[in-house]
Amino acid sequence: MSRGVEGEVRVFAEYERDFTEEADVVVVGSGPCGAVVAHELTAKGKRVVLLEEGPPFTPQEFELDGALSMSRTMREAGLRTTRGTIIPTMQAIALGGGSLVNSAICVRPPDFVFEGWEEHCEIEGTRRSDLDPHFDAVEAFLGIAPTPDDVQGQRNLLFRDGCNALGIESEPIARNVRGCRGSGECFTGCRARAKQSMDISYVPAAIKAGARVLTSVQVQEVLTDGRRATGVRGQVVEPFSGRRSHRFRIDAKAVVLAAGCMATPILLQKSGNLANGSGQVGRNLQFHPGLAVLGVFPDEVDPGFGATQGYQSLAFLREGYKLETLWAPAGILAVRFPGFGHDLKKRFAEVPYAANWDAIATCHRSLGTVRPRRGASLDPILTWHFDAEDAQVLGGALYQIARIFFAAGATTILPGVHGVADEMRSLEEADVLRTRRFAPSDFVTASNHAFCTTRMHGDPAKGVVDPLGRAHDMDGLFLVDTGIFPRCTSVNPMFTGMALAHRSAEALADQL
Ligand SMILES: Cc1cc2nc3c(=O)[nH]c(=O)nc-3n(C[C@H](O)[C@H](O)[C@H](O)COP(=O)(O)OP(=O)(O)OC[C@H]3O[C@@H](n4cnc5c(N)ncnc54)[C@H](O)[C@@H]3O)c2cc1C
Ligand code: SF4
Repeated sequence: MSRGVEGEVRVFAEYERDFTEEADVVVVGSGPCGAVVAHELTAKGKRVVLLEEGPPFTPQEFELDGALSMSRTMREAGLRTTRGTIIPTMQAIALGGGSLVNSAICVRPPDFVFEGWEEHCEIEGTRRSDLDPHFDAVEAFLGIAPTPDDVQGQRNLLFRDGCNALGIESEPIARNVRGCRGSGECFTGCRARAKQSMDISYVPAAIKAGARVLTSVQVQEVLTDGRRATGVRGQVVEPFSGRRSHRFRIDAKAVVLAAGCMATPILLQKSGNLANGSGQVGRNLQFHPGLAVLGVFPDEVDPGFGATQGYQSLAFLREGYKLETLWAPAGILAVRFPGFGHDLKKRFAEVPYAANWDAIATCHRSLGTVRPRRGASLDPILTWHFDAEDAQVLGGALYQIARIFFAAGATTILPGVHGVADEMRSLEEADVLRTRRFAPSDFVTASNHAFCTTRMHGDPAKGVVDPLGRAHDMDGLFLVDTGIFPRCTSVNPMFTGMALAHRSAEALADQL
């Protein structure tokens, strides 16, 4: 039955009884990593079943209201946070996973990131040059290309202008879109169907090649026979309520977990602590903590028009941060507005004159864990500790954003950091961002980039999988989501996850 994509996608209303199916490979999770694997394996003639807990969404079902949209497309209604240092983090629950709601940013990390991976986790063959053929294949399939000027909109081009005035290198962001109209709605779902999210790209292609795709199915356990993974079992779940009903089992020669770096470790832990000889399942959680600064310009910027995230600067990557432009529904941006009552109303009135630019930081010292809850819930307990040295990096990033804003002609910036003025009207006033020693608790960060919870490592005693995603201590089990990153990517993670998944699919196909 078709819904939102061509071909056969089973949806909630079609499950009438318990069922069992059989396949060469069962893939759990239809996000960027799982969708690539499902397509590549099906294209190589393997019988693939792709399982997704969330429903498919049609453009008519996207909600423009940010909070309402989050309550439908995100786990825990988009309100998931860590304990320890609190950092909000969103994971999607939908056909296409995070690609349905993300900004489609596709960046290849530079060489030094992969060199750091190899050194830190004693792995080989995972340099940029090793992965470039896989990046190339995904890029060609999804039509990844730099954002053209005609859909940038003022709020992105002002970033470029500010960087140019200061001699800071910047570039249009490469994205997996075709025919973007610059509506700035990536977060609530692309109504123009320009964004090449997995539900309209890799998943339909997999179906065309013969994959079976089941939505509204929650995998609850990986099945094993001795040292070998033999399938999965779980239950049908009703969209949005999560109410469980019919039971299912999929028997397969190989199991691929691509449930995301906060769900895959839970599945392993709830399946009898599988593949955890190293003790690293659910450990090493890393984020790219992000901070956004709002800048107000003297003339209207019309921020409603423009690619959601159209421009970036990689100039400070070695210093530990990446700068980007960013837009979201005003209600979401308002979380960082200072004041209340009349003052808050004034902030909303400034929105047509505003742009919002952010920094995401490389934070190798700030680590956390993913642990299961008691009972049947598959939602994780997350803890995370924001290291004081990592936090300092964000202060430097804020100062650079302030420089770019004032160079681009902004009259005011709202840095949104505790301990400094709510509003700054000159670079002199903003100098405190450069000189002050901030505590981690001074920042209100958020991050939707998460990784490393089932990390790859050359030594089976120190990691869960090898660089191809093969579990060290379980046969027939592959992990392919961003949990396998040995360390963060320093740039947006989706493209790297897909390139690694593309490589894993080749290895798995050869093995079957
Ligand atoms: C708002 C937002 C914006 C972002 N912007 C960007 C960006 O522009 N560029 C970028 O590089 N990254 C971005 N990211 C991050 C990026 O989307 C993720 O890194 C990426 O989606 C991870 O892919 P994945 O396949 O590992 O996992 P996911 O995309 O999380 O997919 C996992 C899938 O598995 C399903 N699943 C989980 N548990 C089960 C289960 N038990 N049974 C069945 N199915 C299950 C989930 O429902 C989900 O669909 C963004 C993320 C968010 C939330
Ligand atoms: S900016 Fe708008 S049209 Fe372009 S990809 Fe995002 S949601 Fe789609």
